[in-house]
Amino acid sequence: MTIVTPSKSRAVLRAVDPGSMSDCAVCSQHIRFSAKVRPKQVIANVYEDGKWQRVEYFHSECYVTAGSPYGEPAS
Ligand SMILES: [Zn+2]
Repeated sequence: MTIVTPSKSRAVLRAVDPGSMSDCAVCSQHIRFSAKVRPKQVIANVYEDGKWQRVEYFHSECYVTAGSPYGEPAS
């Protein structure tokens, strides 16, 4: 039996863009850019049944609080 590895959900850690329009998938709060704090966000490409579904955004701390649902984010 051959197991074909499907495209898997994965997460990356990125700096928040100044024009960020994203809301956090955990706390529903806007992910706000700050030139002072330089916050990080986690961007996850979500795959279900090997097919790309959507992109989700998280505050980096919310992502950890949620138990890193898409694995350890790559930086
Ligand atoms: Zn959040």
